[in-house]
Amino acid sequence: MVQEVVFRGISLFVKRDDLFLLESNGELGLSGNKARKLHHYLTADLSEISRIVSYGSAQSNMLYSLSCLARLRGWRLDFYADHIADDLVKNPRGNYAAAIANGAQIHSVGELARANQQSLCDYVEKNKVGGSSTLYIPEGGRSAFAELGLKELAAEINAWVVENEISNPKIILPSGTGTSALYLQKHLPFDVLTCACVGSADYLRQQFLKLSEELEHHPTMLFPPADSEGNAKKYHFGKCYPEFYAIWQELEQETGICFELLYDPQGWICLTEYVRQKTSEGKVLDESLIYIHQGGILGNESMLPRYRRLIS
Ligand SMILES: *Cc1c(COP(=O)(O)O)cnc(C)c1O
Repeated sequence: MVQEVVFRGISLFVKRDDLFLLESNGELGLSGNKARKLHHYLTADLSEISRIVSYGSAQSNMLYSLSCLARLRGWRLDFYADHIADDLVKNPRGNYAAAIANGAQIHSVGELARANQQSLCDYVEKNKVGGSSTLYIPEGGRSAFAELGLKELAAEINAWVVENEISNPKIILPSGTGTSALYLQKHLPFDVLTCACVGSADYLRQQFLKLSEELEHHPTMLFPPADSEGNAKKYHFGKCYPEFYAIWQELEQETGICFELLYDPQGWICLTEYVRQKTSEGKVLDESLIYIHQGGILGNESMLPRYRRLIS
């Protein structure tokens, strides 16, 4: 579904990919960006597999999405996190609580990895991934299989653009690993714009290079507004910023859509800054912006209490 909205006077479209799979199968739980990346594993013939191994944050949408996949396919999920916050163990909520309810086995191994002088990734790859019955999914689902689901999303978007005779379309979505933005750019005949939410723009460019050396597959980078010295503001992933909460609230009030609190606020800050630059000196925006809502709102259950403490 694509919805037409107006935000801060900007007319644009929101591709409701947060509803992908939820619309057709609510029971599944899996949705949005992670459903696209894991789509292959939902349907592929993987009869030899009985277990998934992955790693990352104990509050991540990926953990929750993998737990849905494992439950659906009757597999075990071993998920390795650096640590699990005491407060989360005492008061499970959001992605963590839902993953546990789905039977996920979540292990805290950061200390062990550090004792071995290994990164979490190295530790898991060297010690926990073995046997032909284990399906290993690297952090963020960064793999060639993710391309299959994202290629489908690209085809859906392109079909909608053609059918509705949308002129000069531009796709906007915020990036973590950049897997989604890169594969969309690879499979779409128009520009994909993104911003780096995890690490710097340089880090994101390196991630792009790991997935494809062809520069035409690389999305265009957007930035938050610059400060008085001309440097774009740097945000740290997972930290709370008053302007993030403010734009998140404003989005819900103006568009009626609930976005998530880790990636979307920066995505929309960069979008409005992009439009400000494009419309300076009275110029009219001659592009049709399509923002992709990639889901992940279950994580708001962990973020909202943190924001309420910060704001009150
Ligand atoms: C995982 C995720 C992202 C980041 O996707 P990448 O492909 O890693 O760039 C963005 N938004 C939401 C809601 C996510 O869950």
